[in-house]
Amino acid sequence: MKKDCVFCKIASREIQANIVYEDLDVIAFLDINQTTKGHTLVIPKEHHQTYLATPQNLMHSVMDVAQKIGQAQMKQLLARGVNIIINSYPSAGQVIPHFHVHVIPRYDHTDGLSIEMVEKTKPDFNLPVLASEIRKGL
Ligand code: AMP
Ligand code: ZN
Repeated sequence: MKKDCVFCKIASREIQANIVYEDLDVIAFLDINQTTKGHTLVIPKEHHQTYLATPQNLMHSVMDVAQKIGQAQMKQLLARGVNIIINSYPSAGQVIPHFHVHVIPRYDHTDGLSIEMVEKTKPDFNLPVLASEIRKGL
């Protein structure tokens, strides 16, 4: 547990949350800001800063729960789709530095959330070189 981490405090029940699932390693609770109805966060109870820094087994356990939550949102809240979002590091929009998965149920185009992948491919990106750079890191 990391001192002053809001999500560690939720996991240890020091801070109240609306918990929807819990097991030995993972806990899921409603996001305090409901982007859409049922927006849920899934976290490992153990503190790890980001998705990228979380041990693989634990990351898998969190993703398993995220899938279950998405299925439940479809069934119980009659969502028509689900966005799974993981922000890793502040440059990617991560505000709380404890790994979490956003599971966001989607209803229709008027549900208030807009996620756009704007095309950024420019002629000066050498795709074969880029692919090779990433391969080198694997
Ligand atoms: P991120 O930008 O990916 O770090 O998202 C952090 C999320 O945590 C935001 O969607 C916040 O609304 C949510 N959040 C922050 N504090 C709490 C809290 N005490 N209980 C539930 N959700 C929270
Ligand atoms: Zn934490």
